[in-house]
Amino acid sequence: MQNKILIANRGEIALRIIRACKEIGIPCVAVYSKADHDSLHVKFADEAICVGENYSKDSYLNINRIISAALSTGCNAIHPGYGFLSENEKFASIVEKCNIKFIGPSSEVIAKIGNKSMARKIAKEAGIPVVEGSDGIVNTAQEGVKIANRIGYPVLIKASSGGGGKGIRIVRNETEFVTLFEQTKFEAEANFGDPAVYIEKFVENPRHIEIQILADSFGNVIHLGERDCSVQRRNQKMIEESPSPFVDEALREKMGSASVALAKAIGYENAGTMEFIVDKSGNYYFIEMNTRIQVEHPVTEMVTGIDIVKEQIKIAYQNEMTYKQEDIKLNGHSIECRINAEDTTHQFRPSPGLIQNVVFPGGNGVRLDTHIYNGYFVPPYYDSMVAKLIVHAATRREAIKKMRCALETFIIDGISTNIEYQYLIMHNPDFVKGTYNTGFIRKFTALIEGERNE
Ligand code: ADP
Repeated sequence: MQNKILIANRGEIALRIIRACKEIGIPCVAVYSKADHDSLHVKFADEAICVGENYSKDSYLNINRIISAALSTGCNAIHPGYGFLSENEKFASIVEKCNIKFIGPSSEVIAKIGNKSMARKIAKEAGIPVVEGSDGIVNTAQEGVKIANRIGYPVLIKASSGGGGKGIRIVRNETEFVTLFEQTKFEAEANFGDPAVYIEKFVENPRHIEIQILADSFGNVIHLGERDCSVQRRNQKMIEESPSPFVDEALREKMGSASVALAKAIGYENAGTMEFIVDKSGNYYFIEMNTRIQVEHPVTEMVTGIDIVKEQIKIAYQNEMTYKQEDIKLNGHSIECRINAEDTTHQFRPSPGLIQNVVFPGGNGVRLDTHIYNGYFVPPYYDSMVAKLIVHAATRREAIKKMRCALETFIIDGISTNIEYQYLIMHNPDFVKGTYNTGFIRKFTALIEGERNE
């Protein structure tokens, strides 16, 4: 049987996967919703198949339709990208039962480590520090209050099946605990189909640092260094960079080895990311693992020279990794800005619509991963990210300057975007010095809103 890959995603990541397939020489099939009929991934894949209506639940999240698309086009593998069904154990398990290779870990591994409260337990057992909190799921508010009183406020109530920064609530005192507990459970059920929640101590203004790992089916596991993703709005990442301005060689080695050990302990295969929060003193705590390609993978590709998506495909087709840990060197510095169709002057509300004119930045060390073009209509049904602008330079300072130039020459007319907002961040002293943490955007937004009102 000839190898053929179905790409169960849309937007820039679908294009990213198409490129990897073409470079390796494996034909690929795109799926699309009616709203995405004119998308580039539909045009650039070798074949394309419509899987339903505009809303994700009727198309990209419809397991039966995606599987039928794969079977009817003769695909022997499915790349899930990120979001949608990428971390859905039921989907992965049906894919396996249909004798199709899921490009990611096994459904069994997703079931274990994809569940955030269970992942904490596994990490703890593997000797990796986790934030103080509950031992597993907390069933009642009364039980939760006891735990919160023991570890001290503020605490976070987190949905076990949550993701994308959603399903997390901060509780500052006992009075508000019961209401917020019930609200989080209700939202968790509504958004993720699972009401289970757990509790973690809220660490004030930590850094979010994550380790990229690659693991093949021969038991080889390596890490590709870290990404700093501390520039976040409402727990969602906006800017990522590698290496982290905070991490030295010793900390990288400690966090990298811990991540490799955890991947080995769970029999992980394919690309994955261990996420940690790190406090001012450099103490790191595991918070979760993402069992898929991440939005921010390009910064790691730029500094390591490794094409992570091509590696994912090679690993899935049972090839042994050609890289050893000692081959991995971080070269220079890379920064990614997520470009979103949103109005930063009105609470970042989404700004879908027709793109009337676009001018893309370019030049040495500039990479743009995007699916937009002149005349493209940004549909209102999906995530608002329309591009990822990535730069690579010898030093962090040069990378910041390159990003400023690239943002200056990036024009998207017709919709509102956060290009100017990102440009302002590139001039903020805390960002430029590299001393920022996850509290950065709150401070920064207050600063520029203050200026606007003057
Ligand atoms: P998701 O799966 O939705 O991405 P995470 O558990 O990874 O959720 O957390 C998202 C973000 O929330 C983190 O990057 C961090 O900024 C913040 N966060 C998570 N846990 C804690 C914690 N215990 N203390 C402080 N901030 C946290």
